[in-house]
Order: sequence, then structure tokens, then C-alpha cells
Amino acid sequence: MRPALVDSFGRIHRSLRLSVTDRCNFRCPYCMPAKDVIFQPRAELLTYEEFERLVHVGVRLGIREVRITGGEPLVRRDLPRLVHLLAEVQGIEDLSLTTNGFYLQELAEELKEAGLRRINVSLDTLRRDRFQRLCGVDALERVLQGIEAALGAGLAPVKVNAVLLRGLNDDEALDLVDWARERDISFRFIELMPIGGGPIRGGEYLVPGSEVKARIEGRHPLIPKRDGDPSSPARTYRFADGRGEVGFINPMTEPFCSRCDRVRLTADGKIRNCLFDRSELDLRGPLRLGASGEELEAIWRLAVRNKGVGGCVELERGAGPIPTRRMWQIGG
Ligand code: SAM
Ligand code: SF4
Repeated sequence: MRPALVDSFGRIHRSLRLSVTDRCNFRCPYCMPAKDVIFQPRAELLTYEEFERLVHVGVRLGIREVRITGGEPLVRRDLPRLVHLLAEVQGIEDLSLTTNGFYLQELAEELKEAGLRRINVSLDTLRRDRFQRLCGVDALERVLQGIEAALGAGLAPVKVNAVLLRGLNDDEALDLVDWARERDISFRFIELMPIGGGPIRGGEYLVPGSEVKARIEGRHPLIPKRDGDPSSPARTYRFADGRGEVGFINPMTEPFCSRCDRVRLTADGKIRNCLFDRSELDLRGPLRLGASGEELEAIWRLAVRNKGVGGCVELERGAGPIPTRRMWQIGG
């Protein structure tokens, strides 16, 4: 089938991030405001059947990978039902989920049975008091047990991601890596992006990935991994002693926009080309008004054709204000 989601820079889009809710039970300060959060009315969110229909449309346009995100996707009721619907869509080769891990203890097995392939869990600290201060919930133990449950359920590979914040948790880089190595978990560090809705917006809190890598290399020699997915935002390294791997996602200091193959669908049915985008095209309205598959395809194609060079790159050039929709409303 001819790939249809090609932008004016020749980038072909095969990967879809599906945000299923803007709600979350955590309040990470680089992502969400601490209080007075206004969530979208439930009637505005796509139903699971609507997500399924749009994923079918996406497959006809060349989408091959779907990652479910949020907000926190596992706070949406009966998420395994959506996983089951999407796992049945012919043409999807990879179905994954990003979660804060809080509900994994209960749901890991069910998600696996529903057809989820693999999972990414976010974990910024291994210290209980710090976890509570950062995420606003005393849930470190639960999240660690959730990660064990995911490993036990065979959601392989389990990847764990951290955002390091200068002066708040960046002293834990080596502890996090050692913790992951003991469990054969692939660990990845994500650079802080200035698109959160909370008190931490970047600037002095940004810890460049190169700095984290240098610190890790001081203890564990690293070998670049060359057989990875070329469109992946992560630069991945094997530990020279053969025990696991570590990745760095550096959107701020090493933008990867030129190899981006991702497009996003928000929980209320808007196509967004990039986390940093300032515009969106609506699919929910036409969908609910009875648009045909061809009509929905045409809107989606048009949205991608108009994709800009790349969010972080444009931001660096000072191209206008940062977007009004924030991280928790888009999904990472
Ligand atoms: N709630 C789920 C979670 O935390 O994994 C999924 C949604 S969350 C928005 C997805 C990822 O984005 C998480 O790994 C989170 O750490 C990351 N993230 C959130 N705000 C960020 C920011 N301002 N800069 C970089 N990464 C961020
Ligand atoms: Fe919630 Fe994930 Fe954002 Fe943290 S990063 S507030 S867990 S959506």
C-alpha cells in the first residue's frame, strides 16, 4: 500500500500516539498544574469505538504503530477493552502504552491478554519522599510493583523513562540506571521540554542528555547500538559488560524532527503533528456528522501535509508562543 501521510519535507508518518484522556492521578510538576485543573467534558472525548474507527482510517493511510498515552491512560475506565479493539485492527504491527504505572499491578495481565505488546513506564525517582513531592502521590512502592507485574505479564520489553530535573532528582541518574540493569529493564532519559502546564517549564531545570550520558559512562562504559529503529527519538547504547541498555531522548539539545514519523490524535479527536504544534485539525466533528472513510482520510492527509519543520527546532528559532495545549493534554 502507498504511504499517504507524507509531509512537505518528505517525512512518512507510520506511528500514531493516541491520547485517550487528559485526566491523571499524578501531578508531575513538568507536565500538569498542581491544582484547579479543568478537564475536558467526557462527552467531548472519543469513545473507544470512535478511536477504533480512526485507527482503521490511519491504517489505510500507512499507520503501522500505535502507542496509547494520556494524561494517564489507565485512569480511563476499562482501557483493556480499547486495547482489545485496536489489537484486532489488521495492519497494526506494534501496539504499546505509556503509563505512570499506578494501575499496572491490577491491569498488566489483562492488558497483555487484550493484545498489548509492550509498555513504557515513567519513573523519575527511587526515593519515596521525593516521589511524593514530585508526583503529588505517595505511590513509589505501587509503581515498582506495577513494573514487576508488567515484567511478569510478559509485556516485553518493559522500558522505564525518567525526566531529570536539575537540583530535584538529577543526582539519581546512576541509581536509576543500576536499578534498571539489575532487572534487565531498558532505561531512557527524556530531556525536559518547556511544554508542561505546571510550575516547572524548562530553563534552569533542564539537564542535557549529554551530561547524563557522561555521568553514566564514568561508571559503565557504553557502546552505541546501531541496529535500532532509525526513526526512534532515542539514542540507545549497550552497556559494555552486556548487561542491558540505556537511551537518551534529547529533544532540546539534539532535536530529532528530521526523522520524525509520528502524528498524534488527542482524546477529543484532533490531529496534531507535533507536541509543539500550534494548530490542529478536527476529526471528531466530521466523524460524528457521519463523514465517510475517504473524507476522514482527506482531512488527515491535509493535516500531515501542513506539518512544520519541527516543534523544538521552531521553538529554538523563536517562532511564536509555545502551544496552549500542554503535555498532559497531548501525551508524551
Ligand atoms: N501518564 C503517562 C506517563 O506519565 O507515562 C503518559 C503520559 S505522559 C505526558 C508521557 C511522558 O511524557 C512521561 O514519560 C512523562 O515523564 C513525559 N513528560 C511529561 N511532561 C514532560 C515535559 N515537560 N518534558 C519532557 N517529558 C515530559
Ligand atoms: Fe500524569 Fe504522566 Fe503528566 Fe505525570 S507525566 S502528570 S503521570 S500525565
